[in-house]
Amino acid sequence: MSLGSVPLKYKISIDRDQCMKCMRCVDNCSYGVYRIEDDKILIDSRKCTACHRCISMCPRDAINLQEKPVDYRSHPLWTAEAREDVINQARSGKIILAGMGNARDYPVIFDRLVLDACQVTNPSIDPLREPMELRTYIGKKPAKLEFTKNNGDIDLTTKLAPNLKLDTPIMIGHMSYGAISLNAQLSLAKAVAKTGTFMGTGEGGMHEAIYPYQDHTIVQIASGRFGVDIDYLERGAAIEIKVGQGAKPGIGGHLPGEKVCADVSCTRMIPLGSDAISPAPHHDIYSIEDLAQLVRSLKEATNWEKPVFVKIAAVHNVAAIAAGIARSDADAVVVDGFKGGTGAAPKVFRDNVGIPIEAAIAAVDEKLNDQGIRNEVSLIASGGIRNSADITKSIALGADAVYIGTASLIALGCRVCGNCYRGLCPWGIATQKPELVNRIDPEIGAEHVANLIKAWTLEISELMGAAGLNSIESLRGNRERLRGYMLDQGLLDVLKIESVGA
Ligand code: SF4
Ligand code: SF4
Repeated sequence: MSLGSVPLKYKISIDRDQCMKCMRCVDNCSYGVYRIEDDKILIDSRKCTACHRCISMCPRDAINLQEKPVDYRSHPLWTAEAREDVINQARSGKIILAGMGNARDYPVIFDRLVLDACQVTNPSIDPLREPMELRTYIGKKPAKLEFTKNNGDIDLTTKLAPNLKLDTPIMIGHMSYGAISLNAQLSLAKAVAKTGTFMGTGEGGMHEAIYPYQDHTIVQIASGRFGVDIDYLERGAAIEIKVGQGAKPGIGGHLPGEKVCADVSCTRMIPLGSDAISPAPHHDIYSIEDLAQLVRSLKEATNWEKPVFVKIAAVHNVAAIAAGIARSDADAVVVDGFKGGTGAAPKVFRDNVGIPIEAAIAAVDEKLNDQGIRNEVSLIASGGIRNSADITKSIALGADAVYIGTASLIALGCRVCGNCYRGLCPWGIATQKPELVNRIDPEIGAEHVANLIKAWTLEISELMGAAGLNSIESLRGNRERLRGYMLDQGLLDVLKIESVGA
């Protein structure tokens, strides 16, 4: 018995009067939608992923893409997606994989938060005329500073913990070489060096092409420990232990063997073509005490000179876990919300497990303050941050800085088609195929990503100026400058903010 085929997701058509047969669509589509037969371009719409590469490259705007050209009978419960998942799993018997972030239509809390602005009684600040301080330090802060007088000079005697100094509160999160291409990673590395900030290497070592930018990298250690040795630890400006990821809390990672080319295998220190499977837990971490041991071992190995971060997925008891991390000698806790992106995750995890980053930031900041340990760690938020307003709201909720991921890939061309796990990314990002990787020029890619960071940094200063604040320190955890719009009382209580009009 055949289950038949599911309807087309996308339908591609070409305006043949406009088409000049330049063949760019044929050359650019890595999914094989277009082919030539008898001098005619034939189209197989079933292979289309809506990556928009062909549309972007067509010089005549001749290509038309239509979403859902045929649909099922509408039904509020048995949506097209629910029906197709059942059909596909009845056919394959397999877990469904998906790329990018949570695709459910949950309300976005950021869009229901509004920022304050000064009017009449409290003057706003013009960032074009007055200095604005967006410099951000990530790491432990001393509870108090002690000084001694020395022949008329004043010396600081408090020993300061190592901190990362950022010119903007925006960093780029961890996307490993293997998950993304070297040219994509190199573009990000050049961009963070240009803008005075940092990027994560992801799990999987550091390629030597990134060495010139190592002072702007945070090296990651995940449960597979791929690519980790003392040289790797010493190269990074900071070290991050990844315990969990917002897109797939509670499970490990899987880089398919097809993406493990010779270069990736050397960088990850694994055999060529082998699957890189990171286990769900770290097999040496079963308690905060175990975590503290690993944190201290990493500090010991690097002379206590580098801050150590711990990254967790935002889950129900995120605040209590973060408080434990703050007591483990870690210097920063990274919390990744359930809208965080990924190259590949089981769809059921991506869309159903975890909590939104907005609630997690507020809960963690509140818990650390309540326990008097807020200065012990910085709080870095990630997972679904789309623009400068999301960043400003994250900081007002209590974050020190943010990681962006998907937004930086969109700046490199990504169209969020969600097919990263197939290794055929036509934009040269989530692929290791040389002919596709070469589509990214790292100099141009770096310029685009740096432009995005600069533009968002400017917008953050404008938003702060409008609220009468001239330093990021004054914005941090300043929930008085936020109001909730169309949020229920339960969520307002969690976010510790008032409703609009209050
Ligand atoms: S890219 Fe546009 S103009 Fe060129 S062959 Fe394809 S449809 Fe025609
Ligand atoms: S990185 Fe490439 S494959 Fe992944 S969502 Fe973006 S365009 Fe699609």
